[in-house]
Amino acid sequence: MKLSTHIISLKSLYPFRIARRKEPRVEVKSVIIMIEYEGVVGMGEAQASPYYYGETVERIQEVTQKAASMLGNDPFLLEDILDELNRTFPESPAAIAGLDIALHDLVGKLLNIPLYQLFGLNPEKTCRTSYTLGIDTIEATLERLEAAREYPILKIKVGLPGDLETVKAIREHTDAIIRVDANCGWNVDEAIERINALEAYNIELVEQPIPAKNYAGLQKIREQVNVPIMADEDAITSADLPALVGCVDAINIKLMKCRGLREARRMIETAHVFGLKVMLGCMGESALSVTAAAHLSPLLDYADLDSNLQVVNDPFEGLKIRDGKIILPDRPGIGVITRQEL
Ligand code: MG
Repeated sequence: MKLSTHIISLKSLYPFRIARRKEPRVEVKSVIIMIEYEGVVGMGEAQASPYYYGETVERIQEVTQKAASMLGNDPFLLEDILDELNRTFPESPAAIAGLDIALHDLVGKLLNIPLYQLFGLNPEKTCRTSYTLGIDTIEATLERLEAAREYPILKIKVGLPGDLETVKAIREHTDAIIRVDANCGWNVDEAIERINALEAYNIELVEQPIPAKNYAGLQKIREQVNVPIMADEDAITSADLPALVGCVDAINIKLMKCRGLREARRMIETAHVFGLKVMLGCMGESALSVTAAAHLSPLLDYADLDSNLQVVNDPFEGLKIRDGKIILPDRPGIGVITRQEL
């Protein structure tokens, strides 16, 4: 197998701010990974989140170049290849995710079937995705809300002063389902107070109210509020799930933190065994990685697969969203089309 990489820059529709990142994101780099085998090319995307292991674009490039010699010559040996990559690069989740996505795309294309079929899933059973509103002034948030009227589920970023007022203002302007995500922004007592106040605005769930690894804190919050609690920063791979049982109601999986489609599927199944509900989310990637994730959406309770909707120069076209519902492409592999030269 032959590997090559290409860096792309994705520009945001709006400056995107969350509680645990001081500077709003206006542009983000992704590494596009191409793996060629017998004239067929599988494509994957890796986007670093420095929050997880301090991963950077440079490290992704370094790891993918080193990985090129470890791919062997049988793309169908996914388990063997990915096991070896995980052992060799334990702190490069996004790089491994990009390789995993490219290998899945390649296998789907070689078999001439879409990924959902490779996974044995029914494309009619995809769920609805939320549309995310980052932290900003109430005025700017309401403008974005107006532009997002077609989406029946909203995810509101909270966790900074003024968040209650923002959610109140949004609720006064919409009947949409509202989920909130504090991205570790509160302490335990604040979380209990805020979530109990937010309940008045009919909130479906609250994501990661407090910093990760405080299981007793999560348990205390869950006992003192009525709104379901979801772990995101606390749920990196399936190995994190046993500790979360009894502390949260649901988890949010992302390809870039769990290392790709293979582990995402394992996480979905493990979470369901433990009685946890599952969201699959994203981190600002293009339609390439978001569409790859969407092929698993028939297995989900919630989806937050919207980052490509907020990229103004996405080179890829893949999933469609109709009344919030994910529509999967039926082309082989991930099924994305490259709209412009990379
Ligand atoms: Mg989150």
